[in-house]
Amino acid sequence: MLTAVKFVFCWIIFLIFSLPALAQNHKAENLLVVVLDGMRWQEVFTGADSVLVNNPTFTKDKEDITRKFWDNDMHNRRKKLFPFLWETIAQQGQLYGNRLLGNQVNVKNPFQLTYPGFSEMLTGYVDPAITSNRQLISQSDNVLEFVNSQKDFQGKVAVFATSDLFPYLLNRQNSKLYINADTDTFTFAGSRFRLLNQMQRLSNRPTTERPDLLTYFAAIEYLKEYRPRVLYLALGETDAFAHEGNYDQYLETSFAEDRMIKELWDLIQTLPQYKNKTTILLTCDHGRGDSIKSQWRQHGPEIKDSGQTWLAVMGPGIPSSGEVDGKEQLYQAQLAATIGAVLGYDFKPKTHRAMPSINVIAEK
Ligand SMILES: [Zn+2]
Repeated sequence: MLTAVKFVFCWIIFLIFSLPALAQNHKAENLLVVVLDGMRWQEVFTGADSVLVNNPTFTKDKEDITRKFWDNDMHNRRKKLFPFLWETIAQQGQLYGNRLLGNQVNVKNPFQLTYPGFSEMLTGYVDPAITSNRQLISQSDNVLEFVNSQKDFQGKVAVFATSDLFPYLLNRQNSKLYINADTDTFTFAGSRFRLLNQMQRLSNRPTTERPDLLTYFAAIEYLKEYRPRVLYLALGETDAFAHEGNYDQYLETSFAEDRMIKELWDLIQTLPQYKNKTTILLTCDHGRGDSIKSQWRQHGPEIKDSGQTWLAVMGPGIPSSGEVDGKEQLYQAQLAATIGAVLGYDFKPKTHRAMPSINVIAEK
């Protein structure tokens, strides 16, 4: 009898000490979020779109684009456009939003525009004040500021954006985040930051914003020097080239950004702070219209289906389910709580009810 009591007692002690450790394993110590502005789920899941490749209004050099990105097999085609996404994340992580498999991700806001999208993603709800891309200072709580206020994350959350909306969205005047957006230069010492400032000053800004390559290298150099625990990288060229109706460059930049994300991932695997302790989350702020109706250039309240988005995630404790199929409806507003949850925090904005997190830890 005494042995049985001892046995149960030992089990209780074991559970008390081991459960928090098990929960700990499901938590990432660092998080990278990369947002490709207005990147359609259609290209993410099916690769280059034949309707657009065969339309000379949108694709100037069909031969070149076909050689680089075409394959009759959809699986090979999408891998040609997004090799890191399909060779690494699809093997080790999860992808949501392939509507051909019944898995749907949508924005909750009715505007289907950039500012409402980024606001929804970071606050967890549709902010009634943000209805357009007007540069209005957001008064809402956002998950990045919330994470930055946690004891071990103070001064460790950094945002790099091509878009000039971020200082408004994150209320820079009152923010403790490091925010570097659009024309912001660097005040850090060192030749690499000086070079970036110089390149930014001399850039011709082909899409009216700074080139994504500068946003990317700014983030990389900052990461090497300051080792943020959360890095939020918002790239903009996919949206800019689509608005121009330039399908060649929309595809070229999608491919280039997949390469950048791969190099960022490879870099952090060489740094002990990040290796095997970092989750990466990729998404977009809104979708775009249909290619058959030539509405792919646009998005917004009048453009049907431009609220359709996607999401990819990989990291510690996240089962490698790959492409998630089966009926499911997810929303962009769930990302705020998801960002909190992967780091082990429960994000609850003060003024509104945020949507619940996506359970990326569950087997699919
Ligand atoms: Zn956008």
